Amino acid sequence: MPVRNRLAQLKTEISEWRQDIHRNPELRFELPKTISKVTSLLSEFGVDEIHENIGQAGIVAVIHGRQTSSNKVIGFRADMDALPITEISDLDYKSLEVGKMHACGHDGHTSILLGAAKYLTETRNFNGTVVLAFQPAEEGGGGARAMVDDGLMDRWQIDEIYGLHNMPNLPVGSFAIRHGPLLAASDFFEINVKGQGGHGALPHKAKDTTLATAAIILALQQITSREVPALESAVISVTGIQTDTLAHNVIPDSARITGTARFLKKSVQAHVVERMRDVIEGTARVYGCNAKFDYEYCVDVTENENRCTDHAIQAAIAVAGSDRVETDIDPLMGGEDFSEMLKARPGAFIFLGNGESAMLHHPEYDFDDEAIPSGSSWFVELAEQRMPVK
Ligand SMILES: [Zn+2]
Ligand SMILES: [Zn+2]
Repeated sequence: MPVRNRLAQLKTEISEWRQDIHRNPELRFELPKTISKVTSLLSEFGVDEIHENIGQAGIVAVIHGRQTSSNKVIGFRADMDALPITEISDLDYKSLEVGKMHACGHDGHTSILLGAAKYLTETRNFNGTVVLAFQPAEEGGGGARAMVDDGLMDRWQIDEIYGLHNMPNLPVGSFAIRHGPLLAASDFFEINVKGQGGHGALPHKAKDTTLATAAIILALQQITSREVPALESAVISVTGIQTDTLAHNVIPDSARITGTARFLKKSVQAHVVERMRDVIEGTARVYGCNAKFDYEYCVDVTENENRCTDHAIQAAIAVAGSDRVETDIDPLMGGEDFSEMLKARPGAFIFLGNGESAMLHHPEYDFDDEAIPSGSSWFVELAEQRMPVK
């Protein structure tokens, strides 16, 4: 069965919620407007329970099926937070907040799950319980971890958990997924290089921090090219360099390097991080400087469980047809903190086509409301397929 008529009918209404959330973007755990919108809609639909402040600012809602004899509980997750970016747009629902925008489409994800909630409370055509998790702080801040630590899986006895993310340039109405690792472990690092500042004309009287910094950056790239097997995946990106002066005639005393590292396997991550430390400290010493290396493990690999991936594919095929469901895409080196939920329970994460659009986190990005019925239908299909009424 393709997109259900009722969800196609609800598209305009769901798009209005989406555009309202888009107009009022909020960051991390500070989501008062979004939370009040979500909870007031959920209570209007007549969900059975609403719990606030789960993982600081998360919302959990419960919908019981017409039958509950299966005792099965399926969790669905949507993220609610925006990004610290100023939107570039002529849209009439453009962000009202300078420096904040929904550039990752979480306004769409939240609205899609609200649409599914409306449908599921109207029909309750399943045997079991659906638990909805509206998550804060996906874009840094550890919102998924916060909800899991606050008992999301255990208090509501979730058996399986599913989520989706829109994907620019995948056709609207299409889905894409893979078994196993889908998105990368995504970490941050910072290096503080300390030399000995001096006069630009007398480098031999100084310890050249700038030269050591340049050497460290080049050496880091040789770890990924020379120490990681060619068929494994690793990225080290140095993204920022700052010295303590930009004067033309001063050798700076210190420098700061920031960056991110990405992996699909723990073993590769462990080896690379160890070698980064050796290379950074050793290279600094060669130039008479020293370097302090700080590494922050941020987000784990988003790993789809095999059987849940099959269920996710079945639901997507029911919505979109098999020719619009890619089932074996390459993993992406982006990160997603839904990984924390997938570490706690089996589940799967799928991409939903956003059509031709600017990339995620770009100031001209916008979620495509045409994708809403497909996304909401996917959640509904999962509930009904995984928990059929007798
Ligand atoms: Zn994002
Ligand atoms: Zn996102």
